[in-house]
Amino acid sequence: MTAGGVTADTAACDVAVCGAGAAGFMAAIQAAARGRRTVLLEKNSKPGLKILISGGGRCNLTTTRSGADLEAQYGAVRGRFLRHALRSFPPTALRQFVEDAGVLLQEEDLEKLFPVSQKARDVVDALLSLAQQAGVDLRTGNPVLGIRKEAAGFVVETPNGTLRAASVVLATGGLSYPKTGTTGDGYGFARGFGHTITATWPALAPLHVDVPWVRALQGIVLKDVDLAVFDAHGRELLRRNRPILFTHRGLSGPAPMDLAGDVEEQRGAAVVKFDFAPGIARDQLERQWLEATKAHGRASVDTLLPAHLPERMRETLTTLAGASGTLAGLSRERARRLLEASKDLRVPVPGSLGFDHAEVTRGGVRLDEVDARTMQSRRQPGLFVCGELLDVDGPIGGFNFQAAFATGRLAGLHA
Ligand SMILES: Cc1cc2nc3c(=O)[nH]c(=O)nc-3n(C[C@H](O)[C@H](O)[C@H](O)COP(=O)(O)OP(=O)(O)OC[C@H]3O[C@@H](n4cnc5c(N)ncnc54)[C@H](O)[C@@H]3O)c2cc1C
Repeated sequence: MTAGGVTADTAACDVAVCGAGAAGFMAAIQAAARGRRTVLLEKNSKPGLKILISGGGRCNLTTTRSGADLEAQYGAVRGRFLRHALRSFPPTALRQFVEDAGVLLQEEDLEKLFPVSQKARDVVDALLSLAQQAGVDLRTGNPVLGIRKEAAGFVVETPNGTLRAASVVLATGGLSYPKTGTTGDGYGFARGFGHTITATWPALAPLHVDVPWVRALQGIVLKDVDLAVFDAHGRELLRRNRPILFTHRGLSGPAPMDLAGDVEEQRGAAVVKFDFAPGIARDQLERQWLEATKAHGRASVDTLLPAHLPERMRETLTTLAGASGTLAGLSRERARRLLEASKDLRVPVPGSLGFDHAEVTRGGVRLDEVDARTMQSRRQPGLFVCGELLDVDGPIGGFNFQAAFATGRLAGLHA
């Protein structure tokens, strides 16, 4: 690894890869393994920063999901674009790739795969060592400032001089966690070659909710509760049954974070709905409650609520419905309100906590301008685009690294 080292107008290579994250590392390793003289330019003094901080420093590298189910996680359009990348390099292949490099993985909750060592550092070290073995010339502290095309190829500008390259791979990521170096530079480079950048939104971020009962539950974790996001017309956009954490600013944890991209796209008009008893239809629950009221009139009202809910959550629901006391004393109207609170409790969600807290960017280089089989630009031959810079994002669970590695691999195989 060298810092600096691109000398003015003398350096030349076959492939210049911009950005040493998951996608850029993979692209560079594949290109160099094909015998292409490959230079990997990274802005930061250290490569792979996002890998290092991912999964709480443990790196949820990929998932055990596969096939059509895997593709569906990215949504219909994005999933279709990723089909070739994911089928030619599925999670099992990524697992094999890092395990062959000495990083054993194990499955945890939500079908996530993590290093057995629980250290993201091991993944970065493995990528560094694979890059070195393949002959990648990694140059850290080398921000790409501009890229232009000349008759003989591309000219990549850095503060340390220019680099000539036959092909260029853009792997500079998106806008999330800008302090890690991802400040959207690649959008400008791609635009310069005629690409369209679709609207960008923070995704996989905690949700901002300014509702007193939500704030009051700070610290509470819910499981087996459905959370769904609705648009301004009351249409359900996405539903998740994954853990939910109440925070002083709103909602965090896998389900709320998965909804963030859809919330953001509603520009302040989104509503999020809780269903605290997702396994049972509303009329069936109502019948159960009637029977319970007849049989156990002296029991307290909160015994109607799912037993797995934390006590503070159950208290909140009964308070919101104004339904305290015994079942025998529960009026029809209050029972109806409690049913409403249990199955259909809605809060307005103006947005997420933004790019500083978002794990990923929704939006990016328009997918129909990129060849899904090679990641080559349809606007500029010799230019390749991969990773989060593309208009691709997935839910929590290793799907974003999987997409970055799989698209980076295709770019490296064809650049
Ligand atoms: C806190 C956090 C936790 C996450 N946890 C997970 C997880 O556990 N599992 C998962 O699947 N996903 C996770 N993600 C998402 C995942 O990290 C990204 O989707 C993935 O890193 C995208 O890979 P990439 O290579 O496209 O971009 P990045 O990893 O963002 O890499 C882009 C690289 O390009 C460099 N760069 C930018 N501009 C320039 C320039 N002008 N010149 C040179 N270099 C430049 C950047 O410094 C960076 O090193 C997490 C993200 C965050 C922020």
